Amino acid sequence: MKKILNFIDGVFVEPKTGNFLQSFNPAYGEPHLLVADSGAEDVADAVHAAQRVFPEWAGLEPGERSRYLFRIADLIEKRREQFAEAESADQGKPVWLAEAMDISRVIHNFRFFASAILHSTDEAMQTNQNCLTYVTRRPVGVAGLISPWNLPLYLLTWKIAPAIGFGNSVVCKPSEFTSHTAEMLCEVLQEAQLPAGVVNMVFGTGPGAGEALVRHPDVPLISFTGGTATGRAIAQIAAPMFKKLSLELGGKNPAIILDDADFDRAIETTVNSSFLNQGEICLCGSRIYVQRGIYEAFVSKFTERVRKLQIGDPRKRETFVGPLVSRQHLEKVESFMDVARNEGAEILCGGERPNLEGKLKNGYFFQPTILTGVKHESRLQQEEIFGPVVTLTPFVSDEEALRLANGVSYGLSATVWTNSLPRAHRMAERLEAGTVWINTWLKRDLRAPFGGMKASGIGREGQEGSREFFTEAKTIVIEV
Ligand code: NAD
Repeated sequence: MKKILNFIDGVFVEPKTGNFLQSFNPAYGEPHLLVADSGAEDVADAVHAAQRVFPEWAGLEPGERSRYLFRIADLIEKRREQFAEAESADQGKPVWLAEAMDISRVIHNFRFFASAILHSTDEAMQTNQNCLTYVTRRPVGVAGLISPWNLPLYLLTWKIAPAIGFGNSVVCKPSEFTSHTAEMLCEVLQEAQLPAGVVNMVFGTGPGAGEALVRHPDVPLISFTGGTATGRAIAQIAAPMFKKLSLELGGKNPAIILDDADFDRAIETTVNSSFLNQGEICLCGSRIYVQRGIYEAFVSKFTERVRKLQIGDPRKRETFVGPLVSRQHLEKVESFMDVARNEGAEILCGGERPNLEGKLKNGYFFQPTILTGVKHESRLQQEEIFGPVVTLTPFVSDEEALRLANGVSYGLSATVWTNSLPRAHRMAERLEAGTVWINTWLKRDLRAPFGGMKASGIGREGQEGSREFFTEAKTIVIEV
């Protein structure tokens, strides 16, 4: 069975622990890879390599670093099908989606920051006739980058590209459930002749490798994307050490359908925003609020569309819903159905594992599920399920929709459907979410800030946010 080894100082090495984790193909429930189960010693080696190369890498002209980033993007593009197949086999999403969403964005991440680092400018102010104030920025050092399993290489490279682009060296800890494409990226880095140590990859679990990275005294910044509970645990370690910290955490995003919305477009996009990637996108809308006058029609059309979604082999083009990432996650999603039944919610469709044939029989599949009659205080409305499960709830006024939408601890994103510009604007202003989409979903301009409010995180990524995080500003005042 293929072994995923650590990538430290430009070479692939066995973990010093000697241990490996079993990784499964979720479509078949079969073991398919062995992943290095690293510990603090492996992390320390990686940090050491990153520290050694940091002054040299930081000292390059932005144009030179930019050329490496462009080269990496080109090399990934040449292998995009292989990357998409590996991502699908590890995570469960259909291959077509891995290629269209994940790998396309991976390439764009590198190209975007390859270009952005050439266009950054710093401020200078004429404070008075004799005095000039100006700002310089420098990279911070060794960045610790910790990423989740849902968009594995997409989210990891959204950190790596700006971090190294602005002159830091990095130690990455990808999710133990989805390590394969991170290892493939290291092959690309070798081919691109990126100087050894600029990017190091340490595989393994959160409590093993992840926590060692957060605790390491020579890692002054941690960029983390993952669950809110993990983010809290990381903050408890990093805050007393005064580390720079960026936390992109969970969500429980509302989709609000107002009665003047373009009904058919709202239905089509809401099917995607609910169930794309099996609902395992942090930005998926899992609480759908529909205005009373169109509620019955929406419920009936939406349910009809969702029943038709094809569940099956992620390698097939017609598949829309693949397996969930792991058996544990499937069981967690399934456990919410007990909550639904105990609370007397109505399951309009789904609610259980599908009956699939052949090799798929042991896969971690769960049917797209729609619940109604769920109280606002229910765990089903308040907690992140992170699977193909949505609630549908009617509301009467815009005020009520806002109260329900904002009435959770999370604040990652929200979607509003309306053809009234003033209504759209008023809702968007008052929704407690880092990103609000009007009449669309998941469209991103990487120049714009991205991040969550409330329990969905701290810090902002994007062109300026990532620059702010991965560099340190210094103000210099000269009087003559
Ligand atoms: P997770 O928090 O379990 O794990 C994320 C990463 O953290 C993994 O690499 C894991 O190994 C590591 N980790 C776990 N415990 C750790 C510890 N104590 N110290 C250091 N590292 C540790 O999250 P997940 O299940 O992989 O991902 C799903 C979550 O990610 C969902 O909550 C989802 O909403 C969130 N997410 C957020 C965004 C965003 O942009 N806000 C994007 C994608 C996913």
